[in-house]
Amino acid sequence: MMTLDIPKLNEYQKTNFFSKVDKSKDCWEWQARRSPDGYGEVGLNHKRYLAHRVSYSISNGYIPQGMFVCHKCDNPPCVNPDHLFLGTADDNMKDMVSKGRAAIQTNLKKEDVLYIYGKRRCLTREVLSKMFNISSTIISNIWTGYLHSNTTGKKYVKGENFRIHPVDVTFIYKNKGIIKSQDLADHFRVSRPLISMIWNKRIYKDIIDEYLNMLK
Ligand SMILES: [Zn+2]
Repeated sequence: MMTLDIPKLNEYQKTNFFSKVDKSKDCWEWQARRSPDGYGEVGLNHKRYLAHRVSYSISNGYIPQGMFVCHKCDNPPCVNPDHLFLGTADDNMKDMVSKGRAAIQTNLKKEDVLYIYGKRRCLTREVLSKMFNISSTIISNIWTGYLHSNTTGKKYVKGENFRIHPVDVTFIYKNKGIIKSQDLADHFRVSRPLISMIWNKRIYKDIIDEYLNMLK
């Protein structure tokens, strides 16, 4: 839902958008609804969008598919277009790491990392990110082995992420040959190649193996 192409705003929508922004400081902070990560959220044409992405597209036109709008200021609620730049998912992560927001992860105790990793089958990222007061991106990256792989022993596989909940990975895997890949892709809002990768166990291998072991 959050990665939908941003619609072009009319003048009324633009005025309405900026009426929810505090421009009194260098960072223009979003004053209305925020995501659990602290990003501004805005409803447009009955859909919900991230406010900084909307702000970026007001100033710069469209956002190329698959690109992230990142913060130079590392302040999630900020929608100041001068503080925003385009990046890939990798840039976004590298940026977070270099800025030190992900450095919070280095302050996590070993047992916290193991707890977070151990709960990947039963707790959502949102719950864990509130528990430890860290972004859900960090939770995802612990789960995928992108961060703290020394502690968890999870090998990082490029292309694997937790846009899909482990329960859904299992669902997708066991419906191989039963449900069309396009239907699964549409339902879980992911790409069709990602479904194929799950079916071929090229990603989420440990989740699938765990599921297969359960059947034995
Ligand atoms: Zn800012």
